[in-house]
Amino acid sequence: MRIAMISEHASPLAALGGVDAGGQNTHVAALASALGDLGHDVRVYTRRDAPDLPEVVTAQSFDVVHVPAGPPTGVPKDGLLPYMGAFAEWMAADWRTGHAPDVAHAHFWMSGLAAVTAARACGAPVVQTYHALGTVKRRHQGTADTSPPHRASYERQLGRVVDRIVVQCRDEERELLEMGVPGERMSLVPSGVDLDLFTGDGPAAPRTGRRRILTVGRLVERKGYADLIRALPRLPDAELCVVGGPGNAHARQLRDLAREHGVAERVLLTGAVAPAEMPRWYRSADVLAATPWYEPFGLTPLEAMACGVPVVATAVGGLTDTVVHGVTGELVPPRSPDALVAALRRVLYDDVRRSSYAAAATDRATRVYGWPSIASRIADVYAETANLREVVA
Ligand code: UDP
Repeated sequence: MRIAMISEHASPLAALGGVDAGGQNTHVAALASALGDLGHDVRVYTRRDAPDLPEVVTAQSFDVVHVPAGPPTGVPKDGLLPYMGAFAEWMAADWRTGHAPDVAHAHFWMSGLAAVTAARACGAPVVQTYHALGTVKRRHQGTADTSPPHRASYERQLGRVVDRIVVQCRDEERELLEMGVPGERMSLVPSGVDLDLFTGDGPAAPRTGRRRILTVGRLVERKGYADLIRALPRLPDAELCVVGGPGNAHARQLRDLAREHGVAERVLLTGAVAPAEMPRWYRSADVLAATPWYEPFGLTPLEAMACGVPVVATAVGGLTDTVVHGVTGELVPPRSPDALVAALRRVLYDDVRRSSYAAAATDRATRVYGWPSIASRIADVYAETANLREVVA
């Protein structure tokens, strides 16, 4: 099939080479690459955010198209809505002149708006993956949420006009049902993990002799790193490695907090690490702690599991699907210091439990979440969606 993937703010090239990639970059890069490996013709459309970017870059088994919409510089994603009209127009012209896709798969709500508009040019069906929902963000961040004011209504509308929605976890499905999006329009296919990159075999980052809690992600408050630093005084002989960037005001807050709690020498902030280097960090850990206050899907537990590392995670969003409590790790309520300390103690200081979680984690990651099988499930969704369009037409 000819597949257009739209990822307005998150370029897959950032995940392939750069250090500032988040979950959507990683997901789009891995999905596009796995679909390309399955023989599909994939073009990923992302906004041109630097002046010297070529229009088309061939990356592994897919093409990345840099769409000129808005200034050719970095713009925070919450400021991109005004440029989505130009994005859609440019893409529609591309689709009219030889690149009409059989299906368009939009990632994030603004990509969905551009895809639905551009699809009118060629009648392509649109599949939507939200990655994150405005209602959830507003609930947790309140007035600190910088999303455009009508995000939630756009998301609700999109749910009614796209041909299909690929939801990534049961929690997202429930949120969308509560928003009034009909359940029969949704297919649940989780994100995947690169099993060639994330394996238990291979070099590990140096150890210090302490038990290592690893936590990974963008340095934003809602990821709950402060909760882990506060837990450290009650976890003797344990250290916390925080892998992720940027080195911003939050990094300074975390360092101050570690000093206040007398654990500064047991907290290491590595800054952003290139994706190819991530397995070394996972392999060096006794446990991966993923303690966000909320999380749409959450790739880091899957990556750790594929490297044979058990996970202690907060029971939010996609983490309640990927981590099986008492089997591959432990789930605790978000922002519950006592429960977090108790779970980390059980995993860190009980070697038998830790190795049995580790074995089950590897098994679950490799059996359920490998990209070739996840991508072929998504390709089935595309084929059904395109067939349905033909029948209706
Ligand atoms: N990541 C990375 N380098 C870092 C920190 C994170 O490559 O320094 C990657 C990590 O391996 C994962 C992604 O960024 O693939 C984070 O995805 P997740 O879904 O956990 O969080 P999001 O960024 O979507 O909030």
